[in-house]
Formats: sequence, C-alpha cells, structure tokens
Amino acid sequence: MNGAGTGPRRAPLDVLRETFGYHAFRGEQAAIIEHVVAGGDAFVLMPTGGGKSLCYQIPALVRPGVAIVISPLIALMQDQVDALVQAGVAAAALNSSLDWREAQAVEERLRRGAIDLVYVAPERLVTDRFLECLDAAPLALFAIDEAHCVSQWGHDFRPEYRALDILASRYGHVPRMALTATADAQTREDVVERLSLGGARRFSASFDRPNIRYRVEQRAEPKRQLARFLANHPDQAGIIYRATRDGVDETAAALVAAGHDAVPYHAGLAPEVRRRNQERFIREEGVVVVATIAFGMGIDKPNVRFVVHLDLPKSLEAYYQETGRAGRDGLPAEAWMIYGLADVVRFRRMIGEGVAEAQRKRVEGSKLDSMLAYCETGGCRRQLLLGYFGEVRAEPCGNCDRCLEPVETWDGTVAAQKALSAALRTGERFGVAHLIDVLRGEKTDKISQWNHHELKTFGVGADLAARTWNGVFRQLVAMGALGVDAERFNALFVTPEGRRLLKGETPVMMTREDAAASGSGSASGGKRGAGAKGGRARVPSAELTERDPVFAAVRALRLVLAKAQGVPPYVIFHDSTLAEMASRRPRTLTEFADLPGVGATKLDRYGQSFLDIIVRTLAQ
Ligand code: ADP
Ligand code: ZN
Repeated sequence: MNGAGTGPRRAPLDVLRETFGYHAFRGEQAAIIEHVVAGGDAFVLMPTGGGKSLCYQIPALVRPGVAIVISPLIALMQDQVDALVQAGVAAAALNSSLDWREAQAVEERLRRGAIDLVYVAPERLVTDRFLECLDAAPLALFAIDEAHCVSQWGHDFRPEYRALDILASRYGHVPRMALTATADAQTREDVVERLSLGGARRFSASFDRPNIRYRVEQRAEPKRQLARFLANHPDQAGIIYRATRDGVDETAAALVAAGHDAVPYHAGLAPEVRRRNQERFIREEGVVVVATIAFGMGIDKPNVRFVVHLDLPKSLEAYYQETGRAGRDGLPAEAWMIYGLADVVRFRRMIGEGVAEAQRKRVEGSKLDSMLAYCETGGCRRQLLLGYFGEVRAEPCGNCDRCLEPVETWDGTVAAQKALSAALRTGERFGVAHLIDVLRGEKTDKISQWNHHELKTFGVGADLAARTWNGVFRQLVAMGALGVDAERFNALFVTPEGRRLLKGETPVMMTREDAAASGSGSASGGKRGAGAKGGRARVPSAELTERDPVFAAVRALRLVLAKAQGVPPYVIFHDSTLAEMASRRPRTLTEFADLPGVGATKLDRYGQSFLDIIVRTLAQ
C-alpha cells in the first residue's frame, strides 16, 4: 500500500484516490503537490481545514525516500499518524511518548528508508543524534507544519522553531515546505525569512471558510440564549469560549446541571483534569468544551460543529483563529457570539488600565475597534472579516446572520444627539442605565436626588424603548463617540468624535436592535446562499445527518471501532463520509469504495462491517 521502498512511482491523483479515497484535488493542492514532487520548495498558506496535510503527505508517498514532518505538538502528530496508519500508510511519530526501544525502531526504519513519513518535534529534529540519522537516510522532503510558530509576531511563537533554518544549509538538496494558516502578512514575511524560504514558490488560498456560518447576537439573557443555541445543536461537539476561568467554571457547571455533556478547560485546572477533558472531547462524540483561549492549539478534531464566544474576543485575528476550529471537515458549522455593552466597557477599561506604553495601547485600541465594527456591522460579516485580512469580496456571502436575516438600519442622528446631550447635561458622571432613565423621563429616586427631572433632556426620548436606547448607547460607545470612565463607575463621557456628532453634521446610521435574541438556527437548517458556492461544494444534505437512523448507526459503529483501537473516531472515517453513507446507502463493496474518504485499506478493513450495519438498520 505504501510507497516505502522502491516500487514504481505512482501519480499523485492515483495516491489521492487509492490511499485517501478522495476523487479530486481541492484548490491549489494539485499545483502544490506537482511542484514539490518535482523537487521545488514551497510556502503554503491555506486556511484551517483547507487541506494542507495532503500537500506534503502525497509528495511523501510519491517521491522516493522518507518525508520528515515537523510539528509543534505531540497531540497533533499523533492524530495525523493515526489517520495515516488507518489509511495504510507507513508513518510514525518520534516524540517523548515513545520509549527508547520504540524510538530506536523508528530511527532504524528511517535510516533504511523503510517508512514514508516521520513526524518529529523541532527540538528533537536538531539534536545531533537525529541529524546523524537524517544524514544517513534517503530524504523525500521536509514539511514544516504550523510554520508561523517560527515568528514572534505570530500568535504561537515557539523558540525551538528558530533552529530549523539548519535544514536549508545542511539539506539544501531536499525540498522544503512551510505550511501555515496564519492570516497576517507580517507573520508570513517573517516565516519566509526565518526559514530561508525566499526562493520558495508561494501558494495561497482564499481564507474564506464558506461552511462556517457567522452570527452575532445582542446579549440579553445569556443563559437562555445559550440554552436555545445548544438546543439547535443536539449531540454535536463544540467549543464555548469564555474570557475568564471563573466564567468557564460557571458555564460548564450550568450546562452539566442542565444535562449537557460539557467539560471545563482552563489553565487553572490540574493537568490531568485538563488532559482528560481534552481527551473526551477528541475521542468521544458530542462533547462540549467550555474553555478559555488556553484550549484549541493542537486540536485537529474535524467535526467541531460550533464555536461559541460568550465574551468578546480581543481581536479579529483571535476571533478568526478560534472560530476556524469549527467545521474543518467542510460540513456546515456555526460561529456564534453574544455581545453587549458590558464587553465594550470591560475592554476599554482593560486597555486604559494596562501598564502598556502609549504605542501598544493604540494598537490594542484599534484592534478592539475592528472587533466592534464586526459586531455592529449591518452588512455581511464575512465580507468584513475577509476584508480585514486583505481579501476583497464583491458579493455578500449568503451564510451569515446579516445575509440571512438582514437588519434594518435607521437614521439615528437625532437619537445620538439626544443621548450625547444627556451625558453632557448630567455632567458626564453617569452610566447607561441612569442616562436612559433621564431620556425616557422615568421618575426614579436617583433622578429626584440629582434633580435631573429639571433638565432639558428629561423625557425627550420617551418615544424610544429602553432597549432601543441601550442599543444607541452601545453603538455610540462602539463607534468611539462616547468613552467609558472606569474609575468613575463606568460613567460615559463625550469624546471629540462625540462632539462632532452632537453638531449633527454627519448623519449616524444605526442598526435596529434585533427582537431579543431570536436564537440562532442550526448550522444545517435554513437557506444556503451564495456562500457554499465560492468554496468547497461538498456539503452533503446535512438535515439528513442529524436524525437519520443510518447516520446514527454508522456513527455508533465508528465509535466502537475507534475505542477498540484507542484512536479518535474521525481517523477511521470523517463525518462527511458517514453522511455520504447515510444518503447513498451503499449495498455493495464496490458502492462503498466509491464513498469519499474510503481508500483501499479502509475498504478492506471496515467496508463489510459498515455495509452490514447499514443493511441491518434499513431492515428495521
Ligand atoms: P488543514 O491541515 O489545512 O487544516 P487538513 O489537511 O486537516 O486541513 O484537511 C481538512 C479536511 O479536508 C480533512 O478532513 C481532509 O481529509 C479533507 N480533504 C483534504 N483534501 C481533500 C480533497 N482533495 N478531497 C476531499 N477531502 C479533502
Ligand atoms: Zn454574509
């Protein structure tokens, strides 16, 4: 099955079909593979889930010799090796989880060229012992995965990656590839330079993730909103991000109490608890992890169906990376966030209080502004998101809340003036709740205490509901017309920008507050717009999968097989393959072989058991 040794070279497309069971290359894969097979160096930029692995795995099988894959985390390596072994490929990982005897066996196969891929951590790669091994071995290529780790500009700097430039000098004749999903230009340039890949051909794919549906809801009743959201995602695996450890503990406990299979994850938990919870998420079906951003790196689970943010992420880069963990398998997935004025206040305060120098505060402030612009936009979220990363997209996507349920915008110029003047006339020393009372002419104790019923602005906003005013204030803070004074109990003050608005010279368009959190639909339901078109059109009818008896049966069988071998279920078959089983209901091995994701080895190993279960389920 494998290319180890000296068999005749196979064509890349044959390897794709026979070994991996896929019918066609995606996007740039064919070009990248052809280039590397021919001996070229490559720098590959592709979003998460774009299919980077095959870009080096297939050349590894086509070129003579052993491919060395550098990967930062044991968990990542193990997943990939498990998946390759399932597909009948000779692959192994060299890392600290092996005892010396096992490690020696791998090294020995490496020297003889009797293995196709060896995964190794960067710190191990540069040891004398390993380099000597490499000197002796026939080498097919080097693939540096998660290459952004070499850059301190990236979100995951690993100093060990710095030593990897030795590959260029010591093995100049061996093709090298660096692969990353990092969306930021500064990091990319740094990677190319640090790894001496100036002469490498660059390949970059669109960063769009068409199968992810983006939604943002106003925070009204967060617990209920979350409950509604989860009710639309029964039995699905997902990640819920919170900003703090306490938040994680609280949400996880509430979900468990409500009967969800949820586990917490944050740096304050004992390592073995963290490990166990992560393991459950990966190896079982339908587990929800409630986590701080400490969770995620090294999680390659392809069938994460949703990523939720209950607190505002600190930048669009972080948001994009975190939401990118949803739907690697290309099936519908949802990125859902709730957000409100409190988030803005918290962030402005954090930035204000920080000890960072002015320059850094400005950078953080502008990152927050972009994040807020995303939350508040009345237009297509994907357009805004991709635009932020420098990708212009002419058409709205059809797969975000703004496209699916367009919001009304209204001329908020007068309302903005009233709100700003309420803040000014009360001396810029009150928070939102009181200002809304002033505008709406409420007779509260606080109003009488301060004689605010005597102000000109008292009651001038009675025509709008308190919720609408709340939205007005939030949007004014988001656009920087109002500032938040954390030292004075979050009092709102009018900024220079606010003073400009007060003059009424520029109209202010606002979005209408959505009827208190409609509760988002399931990722699979509803209309599917233009979004599916631009990218991978391999979203099988997802309505089918969730409640289909065949899908449930094959998923259960997959779990049993995975447990028996101690591997995650998705290395046996991806959800997309199960979904195809459910919709095509194959009856023969020939029909089974035709399913995407079924290569020769998996056909041999699992075909008959899955066919049996399909037949049995249909007979019931
Ligand atoms: P990345 O490393 O870029 O995040 P992966 O290499 O894990 O992405 O690939 C994402 C998913 O897409 C995997 O499930 C993989 O099997 C699948 N995939 C990759 N290439 C193809 C292809 N040509 N046809 C079908 N599925 C593919
Ligand atoms: Zn859209």
